[in-house]
Amino acid sequence: MYQIAIDGPSGAGKSSLAKAAAARLGIVYVDTGALYRTVGYYVTTKGIDPKNAEAVSAVLPEIHVELKFENGTQYVYLNGENLGDKIRRPEISMAASAVSAIPAVRAFLLETQKSIARTHSVIMDGRDIGTVILPEADVKIFLFASDEARAKRRTKELAEKGIAADYNDVLREMRERDAQDRNRDVAPAIPAEDAVMFDNSELTVEESIERLLEIVRERVPSAR
Ligand code: C5P
Repeated sequence: MYQIAIDGPSGAGKSSLAKAAAARLGIVYVDTGALYRTVGYYVTTKGIDPKNAEAVSAVLPEIHVELKFENGTQYVYLNGENLGDKIRRPEISMAASAVSAIPAVRAFLLETQKSIARTHSVIMDGRDIGTVILPEADVKIFLFASDEARAKRRTKELAEKGIAADYNDVLREMRERDAQDRNRDVAPAIPAEDAVMFDNSELTVEESIERLLEIVRERVPSAR
């Protein structure tokens, strides 16, 4: 078994890259942002301010989050309901970022993430995978790209999901969310000391996948 950690700011292409690499390597892809989005979604629907640490912490016992995997695709269940793309909306991105700065929320989601990696070879993407969740990962990548490239991709991704979003709004919200994620006290979104810094601004998706697989095979001889 082996573990690959991919961290980096929003819209850097972590999920597309990790999903494709997982399929090629025959391992499980885990999108940890979906967990924070689920908590953000729950508190938003309850009318709770996602920045209110006390109120958010108080409702955590009401939340049961489960990850299920079918044919390489991850599905997130909130109290038995498959949330699908409801957690992808821009306002849920901001709520996810707000709740993710609350230590009780991070503690609440810790075991779900660690336990998957104990039983499967995984490629896991997030903000603190190489630093907190899988500090012993065989491969650590910090994926980034220019703000403009990321906002362009994110706008396109949202359009493909049928969510209309303006490029400038996406760019502004993305910068705000990244600053919040980078500057928080717990598990800030920064590279692990031993992470490979990977700038994919100028690479196509296929080139990024090839480069990532090269890095993985150098470090994990058993990877196919
Ligand atoms: O990756 P994604 O954009 O879906 O993540 C949503 C939010 O969840 C991020 O902006 C970040 O605040 C939080 N997150 C986190 N740690 C992770 C994954 C996501 O704090 N491992």
